[in-house]
Amino acid sequence: MPIVKNEDGTASRWDAIDLHKPLVVFKLGGSVLTDKKRIYTPRVSAMHRAAEEVKVIMRRYSVVLIHGAGSYGHIPVKKYRLASGYRNGAQLKGLSATKSKLLELESVLDDVFLAHRIPIVPIFASDFIVTRNGRIDTAELVPLKGWLDLGCVPSTGGDIVPDVQNGFAILSGDQIAAYIAVRLKARRLIFGTDVDGVFDSNPKVDRRAKLLPNLSVSEASRLIGKATSRTAPDVTGGMAGKIRESVIAASKGVPVWFINLAKHGRLVKAASGGKVRGSQIVPS
Ligand code: ADP
Repeated sequence: MPIVKNEDGTASRWDAIDLHKPLVVFKLGGSVLTDKKRIYTPRVSAMHRAAEEVKVIMRRYSVVLIHGAGSYGHIPVKKYRLASGYRNGAQLKGLSATKSKLLELESVLDDVFLAHRIPIVPIFASDFIVTRNGRIDTAELVPLKGWLDLGCVPSTGGDIVPDVQNGFAILSGDQIAAYIAVRLKARRLIFGTDVDGVFDSNPKVDRRAKLLPNLSVSEASRLIGKATSRTAPDVTGGMAGKIRESVIAASKGVPVWFINLAKHGRLVKAASGGKVRGSQIVPS
């Protein structure tokens, strides 16, 4: 498929592309794909379960996969003190070590998805995104659209990216997922974690926490302060971060779902808009 060029020579074929199938953006939580309390520990069986479901969903939808960094990200970011951006050159060794571990996680995930014959294409957030004070400032989505147009499944995850203000920044998969879902006008954005959805308090701490199945944007906004991730180290905001990004996506017209990724079948149901245990943030 030839790339049509803009007058200034930049690639444009995919700028105006209408994807053949509606798009679903999945955020596969690091709490399910890895053991968040044990450094560099993947959960390969959880990856296989997710791949089985993505395979089914691909029949009807274009899919972008975003994964959390889990114990490949949060633990070394703390260990090497990378959370607040560039302070001194001594950090760079840790930055480099963390990035190569993130590459390792991507590679484990890709092998699993390939075993299910899913044409996954890894792309790294730091290769197409620049942040400003930790928020996405610029993102070149043309390559991603090109992969989708071919029927591939682009995969990317939480990363350390160049930041125009702070040298570098820790960018969460949650922020990337919401950003891409909005820019590419996704039919749905689905967050899969290790709990059934958004609760009125942390269900891992409070046994009486109630699942909130339907939330308006303003109800979700009010919950941000109450949600955390107290059960595991998380430098990007835990459930509160996810709700914050969802509120942005939903207020720009993308319906957002939260489901338990560890429960088989829920991803497929949520992707097709079926009835499923979980939470939904409805665009206002
Ligand atoms: P992931 O790494 O999979 O993206 P996180 O660990 O960041 O997910 O966030 C999920 C965790 O957030 C859950 O395991 C849960 O303990 C915690 N949590 C805190 N507050 C809430 C809440 N109000 N509703 C649901 N989960 C919550």
